[in-house]
Amino acid sequence: MTNSLASTAANNGASANVHGTEEDAFAEVNSRVLGASDFLDVPESTRQILCSCEREVTVSIPLSRDDGDRDILTGYRVQHSSARGPRKGGIRFHPSVDLNEVRALASLMTWKTSLIDVPFGGAKGGVRIEPRSLSDREAEELIRRWTRVMVHVLGPHRDIPAPDMGTDARTMAWLMDEFHRIEGFQPACVTGKPTALFGAEGREEATGRGVIAVTSAALTDLAGGPRNKTVAIQGFGNVGRFAALEAIAAGMRVVEISDVTGARRFAQGASIDDLAGFRQVSEIEAGEESDPDQTLFAAVDVLIPAALGGVITAANARNVRARVIVEAANQPVDGEADRIFGDGGVTVIPDILANSGGVLGSYFEWTQNIQEFKWPLETFRSELDKRLAAAYRAVSAETAHYNCDLRTGAFIVAVRRVVEALALRGQVL
Ligand code: NAD
Repeated sequence: MTNSLASTAANNGASANVHGTEEDAFAEVNSRVLGASDFLDVPESTRQILCSCEREVTVSIPLSRDDGDRDILTGYRVQHSSARGPRKGGIRFHPSVDLNEVRALASLMTWKTSLIDVPFGGAKGGVRIEPRSLSDREAEELIRRWTRVMVHVLGPHRDIPAPDMGTDARTMAWLMDEFHRIEGFQPACVTGKPTALFGAEGREEATGRGVIAVTSAALTDLAGGPRNKTVAIQGFGNVGRFAALEAIAAGMRVVEISDVTGARRFAQGASIDDLAGFRQVSEIEAGEESDPDQTLFAAVDVLIPAALGGVITAANARNVRARVIVEAANQPVDGEADRIFGDGGVTVIPDILANSGGVLGSYFEWTQNIQEFKWPLETFRSELDKRLAAAYRAVSAETAHYNCDLRTGAFIVAVRRVVEALALRGQVL
């Protein structure tokens, strides 16, 4: 890595730290990008493009609370790259949201969309707020206000939001409605919508389903297949819930699940009936109560962190007993922990591969909206499974070719495609 490049990544991280994030999430993503760039001999000026965001919008959003108070919240939309198509990425409502985190997540979207070879770039948005503090009315007002101030940078061929932590299909319906009031009817302006309102059947489960499609492909490649492998899952939201159900359907034994409300242990593995229909772990009666602080350290074959980023660090990585870690959440394993796992022979399936079923499902929804044509659910599922298995094979081939880990292999595939697009557009100096 050249000195000026090191300083590009460091500067991006340093300015982000001003915004209060301890972990330098964006610098962490950029170090992966630079690592892949080394394998590909990417020129320095191009590396600077890859490590910078095209546009960053920070806004103040006044919100009237039900009790008569008025909060002034901070909202973001960061567009990392449009080299391969309109920018694509979710909107997160969470108290940890800051500019550095949004930059990191926007950049990850560029690499994710490139890795699975869909015609999108990368973006991310968010509002720094505890979503559970919002009533339905407040959540609606918040997303409508966010949409009004961001509308000039959004659109079906510009930047297409989707749900993320703290937002859901309902939030996307309000976003679409607000967008339509200003710009006219364009359902492809946002994905992750309710199925009754231009959403795609299959999109809601797509990230969790994709997590298990990739896990099954990896276990078939590395460990004789998914059947009877034991799994622990941290997080029982959109991703964790469907990942748990799909893991059971694939013949795996889900022995530990947790979320903010608690944890359950299932000595023989949970059944579909034990988990289906519940949205919080505290609602589940089957199994035994367990300690949510110990989920990451369960004695299992496969660990699936599906909640927050930054949960596995140098401080706790040696306590993880699983031999395969699947990054269903974005950036749950930090750089130091990744090195510890590499040295210890633990396989980490990286986020840009493991959770890319979400944006792949969004791509299917977007294309259906543009074509005004609805796919049957089975077509959605089989296309998703087929493309994710192909993405795993592409990553696995690069990993073997360059004798590197899966994360580096995934970034090599993704960075190569973005660099090629930049060169063909004449954007490389
Ligand atoms: P969600 O808001 O639906 O669910 C989050 C879950 O994490 C909840 O069950 C919550 O209780 C749990 N959680 C929060 N803090 C926790 C803690 N300290 N310990 C245990 N559990 C905790 O969010 P989601 O959409 O499921 O997203 C989860 C992760 O997956 C995020 O990192 C997100 O960026 C990533 N992701 C989501 C999608 C998607 O389509 N939803 C796509 C790609 C990546």
